[in-house]
Amino acid sequence: RYTINTVDPFYLAEKDYYDEIGPEIENLDLQYASAVLDSPFRAELEQALSPILLRSMELQRRSMSPGIVDDMVEENKLVSEYAQLMAGMLFPFRGEQLPRPMLMKYARSADRATRRECYEVLGTTLAAHSEQLDGIFDRLVHVRDRMARKMGYENFIELGYCRMERMCYDVQAVQTFRENIVRDIVPVVSRLRLENAKRLGIDTFRLYDNEVFTPGGDPTPCGKEALFAAAQKMYDGMGDVPGTFFRMMCQNEAFDVDARPNKWGGGYCTEFVKYHQPFILANFNGTSGDVDVLTHEAGHAFADFIASQTVAVRALSCPTMEGAETHSMSMEFLTAPWHHLFFGELTDKYELSHAEDALLFIPYGCLVDHFQEEVYRHPEMTPEERNQKWLELEGRYRPYINFDGLPFYGRGAGWQRQLHIYLYPFYYIDYCMAQVMSLQFYALSLEDREKAWEKYMAFVRQGGTKTFVDLAHSVDLR
Ligand code: ZN
Repeated sequence: RYTINTVDPFYLAEKDYYDEIGPEIENLDLQYASAVLDSPFRAELEQALSPILLRSMELQRRSMSPGIVDDMVEENKLVSEYAQLMAGMLFPFRGEQLPRPMLMKYARSADRATRRECYEVLGTTLAAHSEQLDGIFDRLVHVRDRMARKMGYENFIELGYCRMERMCYDVQAVQTFRENIVRDIVPVVSRLRLENAKRLGIDTFRLYDNEVFTPGGDPTPCGKEALFAAAQKMYDGMGDVPGTFFRMMCQNEAFDVDARPNKWGGGYCTEFVKYHQPFILANFNGTSGDVDVLTHEAGHAFADFIASQTVAVRALSCPTMEGAETHSMSMEFLTAPWHHLFFGELTDKYELSHAEDALLFIPYGCLVDHFQEEVYRHPEMTPEERNQKWLELEGRYRPYINFDGLPFYGRGAGWQRQLHIYLYPFYYIDYCMAQVMSLQFYALSLEDREKAWEKYMAFVRQGGTKTFVDLAHSVDLR
């Protein structure tokens, strides 16, 4: 309710109340986990429920203690302050005041001057709030660092990993993953981007060229009503189960997809547990991104719908986030044979831009992750030093982009529009690993669509009953 309208006084007050009371409730949950973990029947419980469940409880126990409840309340308040600021921000563009998702439509325009204008408006508006943005983040870094040290960790990194319930890889493994991306993917992406830019007549590749892949700009899909009708046809085409799922979502009005001022700026899929009902929030802006919502967020909802039937232990219905993002990011590709329903004759353009976008996301995601690691390893950095670090890392992960002279971005503040950095520390690498999975599903689907879908279903049916690595291996993926 709060994300639907972040200035609704009733739900805003509810949200404040939850920010305040949430950590206390988590503390009760922790006591419950401890009772299970310290039970004399632990071995029996582990056998009856699942070893994964108990491992996740162990991580829960390493993620909080009664001694940090006040800090958690403070963190929640800062997170809300950021979300509130971003949701309320309006961007003056060509005589209109636009919420961010509506402005970003122009980042995909075929006209380069329009794209530049869009990024200039984005940059100058964010820059006008830079004191607030820097201040909130600085306080977030310090409160997170303080909690970590109170819990006996050297810094927030280890605590952040526990919170993400990482149980099959550590910081070193992630560093190796990122190094592999720099070695193997960055050169390929750079070459693709620059070759493509040349075809589009772009001499110096700028940030505002990064969302354009084909002549004519973004392949615009059909309008909202037609999109939903096409999505129903698509899921019906994929089989009875996906078809039933999507019909249920529409009948239960489980979507809010219109962009509005004061609405939460991102997209998500959540679930009303009591009713086994997934719900999707998004901000349609008339670009191909709208279709991504109907495949990506619907992929999350579909996985939830399946797991509610196949996974007995409710707490294990959803895997850790790389697993969950594998559900959604793979669905973006596995729906490909029906994308023509959205794009008609522009379908090839969409396929190309979507696949390329998926690949170039990986270095960007690693950049976000690497940045966070540096920030929490050096909590004493000043806002200016953080920006410098971001720019330095940009050069490593996106060397093909020239940032010179761009407002806001030119001085390295571009990370401040990435909501995850404020809200969900260390979440971002999960998307990168999930993308590696989705590209494997995609490659397989080009060879044998049925087999790819079967593997996907085998992955989804297991919910969170295994670690991410074991889930991947269970369907012979790397
Ligand atoms: Zn997702």
